[in-house]
Amino acid sequence: MSNHQPGTDCIHAGYVPESGEPRNIPIIQSTTFRYSTSEAMGALFDLEAEGYFYTRLQNPTSDRVAAKICALEGGTAAMLTSSGQAANFFAVFNICSAGDHVVASSTIYGGTFNLFAVTMKRMGIDFTFVDPNCSEEELNAAFRPNTKAVFGETIANPALIVLDVEKFAKAAHAHGVPLIVDNTFPTPVNFRPFEYGADIVTHSTTKYMDGHANCVGGAIVDSGSFDWTKYPDKYPGLCTPDESYHGVTYTERFGLGGAFITKAVVQLMRDFGATPAPMNAYFLNIGLETLHLRMPQHCANALAVARHVKDHPKVAWVSYPGLEGDPNYALAQKYMPGGTCGVVTFGVKGGRTAAEKFMAGLKLASIATHVADAKTCVLHPASSTHRQMSDAELEAAGVSPDLIRLSVGIEDIKDILADLDQALETV
Ligand SMILES: *Cc1c(COP(=O)(O)O)cnc(C)c1O
Repeated sequence: MSNHQPGTDCIHAGYVPESGEPRNIPIIQSTTFRYSTSEAMGALFDLEAEGYFYTRLQNPTSDRVAAKICALEGGTAAMLTSSGQAANFFAVFNICSAGDHVVASSTIYGGTFNLFAVTMKRMGIDFTFVDPNCSEEELNAAFRPNTKAVFGETIANPALIVLDVEKFAKAAHAHGVPLIVDNTFPTPVNFRPFEYGADIVTHSTTKYMDGHANCVGGAIVDSGSFDWTKYPDKYPGLCTPDESYHGVTYTERFGLGGAFITKAVVQLMRDFGATPAPMNAYFLNIGLETLHLRMPQHCANALAVARHVKDHPKVAWVSYPGLEGDPNYALAQKYMPGGTCGVVTFGVKGGRTAAEKFMAGLKLASIATHVADAKTCVLHPASSTHRQMSDAELEAAGVSPDLIRLSVGIEDIKDILADLDQALETV
């Protein structure tokens, strides 16, 4: 583990070149790796020696970037995936099979909700969705004998609800299962979930980690703290020999620190192939090198926007966990006192029509299905991603017809506020 501060890890962790080696993480743009004997390669296949043989499983560029994210989260092992969707799928599917059950927060990202409630349900895995602000009793009541994991988002996209990680970790551990959290929005610069009891962290690196809308990607990090061997009947995939991988028992061979990620690489990456391109890992690393500088700027700009629109005569409501008086303010202060994220949601008075007018008036902010970019971007779900829904259906889905999702970038705040003001003038 690194002894450096997070800001130094953003730049250096994961790769220390030897004398004469490239200063930057090299892009190993090769599908395969050469060996001088079949025996040497055989040892890799048996997981007896370390080394690379095929980029679908592992690639040195991606592994170095994964090691940096691992250091930032304070974990024991990490892997990159081709997208955030793949990261969340692998993190859950690594310990769940048909007939199993997962407890998940109901306010998670729509893509993850669909993955769980529709696609993984078709694979025979059941999910119970709970209100993240439910009582401990309600949370405990959601568990079943076949529950294998608990899942939540540290700051929900786009609901902006801060997860009470300690409450969720306590309930998960009382039932002998790990807590998996998606930490995409705060990033480890603002929040390190392992320090509050989470066991596994996932990311859509597409967002702040990349930060420049270059590459879709994901990551999974293990804290190494969940003891699978206490529950061998519940987690046979980690605690008994894997016949599809030369009879390896992951917890025995790789310990608690390495079992989860090794299994996800050699089974799930092998079979599903959601591998990031080495070039994309390289771009991700460039983004990570400034994550500790960009996050405070995103947060300061977002707070300034939230305070500004809160008192604007044409704005009906605003939601931002870093804003005094917001329902999520207390949890945000507890878990991420240094800042939350750069996404703010608000409603323009006059509903759907007014919101559409406001969107058309924006000049600096780009209309885009994206968040967490250096460039301010904005989405009106009712006229884009959710446009097939009626106002009543939108309300039921928790997306009001007037809702604007503003991902505040790192431009000069004066220009961001001026753009919002002139667009609000047109409404
Ligand atoms: C975007 C997002 C995802 C999905 O990630 P992709 O990289 O788009 O596949 C998952 N979780 C959260 C919180 C997200 O914002």
